[in-house]
Amino acid sequence: MTTARRETPIYDRVALIGLGLIASSMGHAMKRAGLSGHVAGHARSAETRAAALEIGFCQSVHARAAEAVMDADLVVLAVPVGAMGPIAAEIAPYLKRGATVTDVGSVKQAVVESVAPHLPDHVSFIPGHPMAGTEHSGPYSGFATLFENRWTLLTPLPEADPDAVARLTDLWHGMGAKVSEMDPVHHDKVVAVVSHAPHLIAYTMVGVADHLAQVSNSEVIEYSAAGFRDFTRIAASDPTMWRDVFLTNREAVLDILGRFTEELFVLQRAIRMGDGPLLFDYFTRTRAIRRGIIEAGQDTAAPDFGRGKPDRA
Ligand code: NAP
Repeated sequence: MTTARRETPIYDRVALIGLGLIASSMGHAMKRAGLSGHVAGHARSAETRAAALEIGFCQSVHARAAEAVMDADLVVLAVPVGAMGPIAAEIAPYLKRGATVTDVGSVKQAVVESVAPHLPDHVSFIPGHPMAGTEHSGPYSGFATLFENRWTLLTPLPEADPDAVARLTDLWHGMGAKVSEMDPVHHDKVVAVVSHAPHLIAYTMVGVADHLAQVSNSEVIEYSAAGFRDFTRIAASDPTMWRDVFLTNREAVLDILGRFTEELFVLQRAIRMGDGPLLFDYFTRTRAIRRGIIEAGQDTAAPDFGRGKPDRA
């Protein structure tokens, strides 16, 4: 999917707060499609800020988040979920009247609770979550096509200005994403199933292999089959981000893990009892789900899961 380049930007000035995978991918995608005028950036470390300038997805970088948001028409919070509340408190007095504030956090209700109370009435707060990512992080990991054909879920509060929601939706469409709106609590339940619990299971499986005394590390690496390799890829994801995800989406994740444990016991018992038909039926049903994902264009049937070399430009 390619998006046409616009003559006039959707936002004259955008501030990216946090300059890692998601923010840098937005920077590349906005630049490619002409969606933004000036892009100002802020990250904690001078090293990350210098990298963002050198790569060129920001036109200016600022040591303080408050400086980056001045005059911005759109402010994007792209830091770990646990860092968003304090940053919102810091930037609140400097936000331009009529600006839109959004975020890209993987959890929504906790972001609403930690960010919204700090923001002045004259800005529109529209929480968001691009359902796209890789196990890489930092300013060098971003690429322009990350969001193409992926869903971005917006969870606007009831009082959100519809024009501001429409404009932000246009921005995500311009970056190649499909956009849907939902309630933040519902969002957190959905992502607990499709993203958060699977990550925890991957972390656990890799942890189990690590603890197995009889399988030495070199054997795990040398003989790793595709299934385990995919777990290790997921389990290589950023520890800070994922710690915050589990701490802030606790109830939804615990609910899914409870259901997961029940299913695991069903399969464990079937294996112990030699119940082949149960296993066969179960795996036939799960195979159909994989087919549905491919038919919906959310992955390819290629053996590398379609995660070829990213295109940064
Ligand atoms: P990332 O690559 O690890 O980058 C995080 C950025 O935030 C870095 O630039 C870091 O700056 C900055 N940062 C961290 N704490 C900060 C603080 N207290 N003050 C200022 N800057 C701070 O992260 P990411 O993968 O882009 O994730 C960003 C957000 O997107 C998270 O909320 C995550 O839940 C969400 N998300 C991630 C994915 C994914 O697959 N990665 C997918 C969808 C949504 P330094 O480099 O200077 O430390």
